[in-house]
Amino acid sequence: MDCIFCKIIAGEIPSNKVYEDDQILAFRDINPQAPVHVLIIPKTHIACADEITEANSAIVAHIFSKIPMIAKEAGANNGYRVITNCGEDGAQTVKHLHFHILGGKKLSEQMA
Ligand code: AMP
Ligand code: ZN
Repeated sequence: MDCIFCKIIAGEIPSNKVYEDDQILAFRDINPQAPVHVLIIPKTHIACADEITEANSAIVAHIFSKIPMIAKEAGANNGYRVITNCGEDGAQTVKHLHFHILGGKKLSEQMA
């Protein structure tokens, strides 16, 4: 499959890793939009939030259970924002479910 995040998981494309376990990988965004900008992805390919079901949603709970630790390890010590973009109107560019962790400064109150 021609998925850049699956290639990062497979080690075919390098990444600046922040955290990894058997189910998920967290790495720095290549084009950071805040002083702290980390992406957290499941190791299984799920296209976006629209594909989350009762059967595969445990991975989302696992990701959120690790967010407090990953955010602080990455340097977001005073709060952060979690974003997932999905589909055309969500302006999703990489079609592998990912959660952006943004922090390290006071973010805009605007979200869209
Ligand atoms: P989205 O617009 O939500 O699909 O976000 C995709 C994100 O992936 C963007 O913030 C990109 O900067 C980031 N990105 C794309 N390729 C890479 C890469 N090779 N390593 C790290 N981040 C990447
Ligand atoms: Zn993928």
